Amino acid sequence: MAGYDYDLFTIGAGSGGVRASRMAASYGAKVAVAEEYRVGGTCVVRGCVPKKLFKYASAFADDFADSAGFGWDVGTPVFSWPKLVENKDREIDRLNGIYIHNLENAGVEILESRAILSDAHTICLPGLNRKVTAKHVLIATGGRPFMPAIPGIEHAISSNEAFHLPELPRRIAIVGSGFIAVEFAGIFHGLGVEVSLIYRQPNLLRGFDADVRDALTVAYEKKGIRQYSGEEVASIEKTGDGLVLHFKNDMRLETDMVMYATGRHPNTMGLGLEDAGVELGEHGEVKVDDFSRTSVDTIYAVGDVTNRVNLTPVAIREGAAFVETVFNNNPVAVDHTIVPEAVFSQPEIGCVGLSEESARLIHGALDIYKTRFRPMKNVLSGRDEQTLMKLVVEPESDRVLGVHLVGPDSAEMVQMAAIAVTMGATKAQFDATIALHPTSAEELVTLKQKWVAPV
Ligand code: NDP
Repeated sequence: MAGYDYDLFTIGAGSGGVRASRMAASYGAKVAVAEEYRVGGTCVVRGCVPKKLFKYASAFADDFADSAGFGWDVGTPVFSWPKLVENKDREIDRLNGIYIHNLENAGVEILESRAILSDAHTICLPGLNRKVTAKHVLIATGGRPFMPAIPGIEHAISSNEAFHLPELPRRIAIVGSGFIAVEFAGIFHGLGVEVSLIYRQPNLLRGFDADVRDALTVAYEKKGIRQYSGEEVASIEKTGDGLVLHFKNDMRLETDMVMYATGRHPNTMGLGLEDAGVELGEHGEVKVDDFSRTSVDTIYAVGDVTNRVNLTPVAIREGAAFVETVFNNNPVAVDHTIVPEAVFSQPEIGCVGLSEESARLIHGALDIYKTRFRPMKNVLSGRDEQTLMKLVVEPESDRVLGVHLVGPDSAEMVQMAAIAVTMGATKAQFDATIALHPTSAEELVTLKQKWVAPV
């Protein structure tokens, strides 16, 4: 190690940083990780995990309503927000403890401080009044909510605060139509809050397959989530009894709470990256090569801070690949081309591979298979919500390029479909798979008719 305090110093104990630190330690490296907030990072502390718990809580509203068609009479269910938040916090504390335990067990030193680079090998820890050196540095500081600088933005919350609201508002206006906006719209709606979604596009979830976008937009309309599409907020005014959103088109919307879910930016401010010579991209992301190496040979970066594919499992994979490359003499580059995605909206979305629109740009002609049907459970419950299943197929090779699902359990299904798509499965191989009855997933292996666009 020739003179350095550590072989690896990781900045940020989120998904990518923790995985890399533990793995490097398992290869015999002396490792420290600095974390200024809580071990576990966004995913565990104020992202995927608490969000999914909230989604479960919120989905009971539909379950209670649906149960009547199956003979149940559950009376009038009563919901307690403080109880949910308390139980959620207890679970996050438990997971936080497991993460700390796992790091310590692996021999990783946890330093509770912000870390600032003063050069490529020197890290200042102002919280501990210490300076340490390391042969390699891994930047894994994730991202933070971005909120546009409009007048009154200080009256808006981000997803960070949404996890700790002292009480639920009667009405909430959510700005944005990406992952976080649609997930929280579903959560708040299920918990009985009047939800308005304000977004600039004609429909939700730009970047997703157009059929998926349409399906969720329609489903949210039917649920009674009010949507202001093609709109932008010019300012937020605080009034005596609430907030007023002033739209650019002069419309106004009264509400009790405003949440901005307008994207996340890489957390690269104030880390001393410039002093260490680390190059940043135009959105402040750390620029890296295929092996997550920055412009400085001994400094690497993984996860959202690199703004590649901002998802927990990708950060974990990048962290592992970095360790293989640097500490096990086994260069591994992460393939970001096929990454399954789930949106925990209600109904849920699961996608893997190319959307029809992206596939057309790359491959030209395509075979499209799709079906919309009312899932079995919705018949007795009387719920008027359809499931969408769609396969995007490249005609020459017959390869399935994309699978797109909207409906119950889509996330679970798409994880399995992702194995087939990653292996390069053909439509014929999907068809050769024996269906499992009665499931919704069986539709994926029984799609016979190519879809023909109406003329
Ligand atoms: P997204 O990038 O998904 O969506 C951002 C939204 O904000 C878009 O609707 C965008 O509109 C809108 N927007 C951006 N700037 C403005 C602006 N100035 N005024 C109005 N609207 C604006 O970001 P999220 O914040 O929803 O999520 C951040 C990231 O977190 C995601 O990209 C994802 O990687 C991750 N995530 C993943 C989840 C999952 O896997 N289930 C769940 C939650 C988050 P437009 O489309 O017009 O640009």
